[in-house]
Amino acid sequence: MRAEPLEIKEVPTPTPGAGQLLVRIEASGLCHTDIHAARGDGPARPTPPFLPGHEGVGIVELVGPGVTEHTTGDRVAIPWLGHACGTCDYCVTGWETPCEAQQNTGCSVDGGHAAFALADARYVVRVPEGIDPAEVAPLTCAGVTTYRAVKVGGVSPGDRVAIFGIGGLGHLAQQYAQIFGGETIAIDVTEEKLALAKRLGAAHVVNAATTDPVAAIEALGGADVAVVLAASPRIIEQAHASLRRGGRLILVSSPKGSTMALPIFQTVLKGIRADFAEVFRLHAAGRTRVMVEPRALDDINSAMEDVLAAGVPAHLLLLP
Ligand code: ZN
Ligand code: ZN
Repeated sequence: MRAEPLEIKEVPTPTPGAGQLLVRIEASGLCHTDIHAARGDGPARPTPPFLPGHEGVGIVELVGPGVTEHTTGDRVAIPWLGHACGTCDYCVTGWETPCEAQQNTGCSVDGGHAAFALADARYVVRVPEGIDPAEVAPLTCAGVTTYRAVKVGGVSPGDRVAIFGIGGLGHLAQQYAQIFGGETIAIDVTEEKLALAKRLGAAHVVNAATTDPVAAIEALGGADVAVVLAASPRIIEQAHASLRRGGRLILVSSPKGSTMALPIFQTVLKGIRADFAEVFRLHAAGRTRVMVEPRALDDINSAMEDVLAAGVPAHLLLLP
């Protein structure tokens, strides 16, 4: 069953409760997870009405009672992990991401595709000076997720790293693999995306529409690490087949039709917190380039169609 399109509505600006912030949104990245949430066809199924978006970046406008972490005027990013209980076995051992009482931004609590958003002050991430807020939005989910993937994949200098799917996630995964010293092979079916991968420093590009990627990567000696950003089971199989012995397969996407969770959601909170700081620091140092394409928040439905059509060689950004 096909869900209704999203509606643009005037809603009252919320008031921050204890421990919460009211954030005036500057930009909010459009992630594939938002599309699953909006259509109710993913593992996380929100109850309408709700506001999607978990890559919101903005300025703290009001602070609720008891907030000590942030103050008005701070620029913050509001990620997927919006809240955890702080008292369960997972939380007390620093593993907040499996917390069964967690709240997810843009899913179980309202998110950033709006002019204002509420956020738990303990879970927002401060944005360092000197980075364009429009570029921070994709880093808040796509950046941290792919950075984690490359880190978990143990990419080390000289490794051949095959990136299956160059897009909002893939163009970042490729750059992190290169920062870790990897020699990257970009695989996609769109020449425009392969041209982007080349500009960002890919050592090799393979158009899977015209060339068998497994044979092409085998001819290079096989991949030490394959990072998959595409949901097609066939592409996951190709990525697996392209590995050399001892190679590592890292799935950032989940296979279509399966309810498998993204590995990133099961990682240790401390690790994730460190990842945010590292991702933002690398960007502030000019080590990554974030390809964003701004759209008006009012055009969210056509933006979602474009993402599903896979024709956008960048991360779409919604501006309220
Ligand atoms: Zn996301
Ligand atoms: Zn907990």
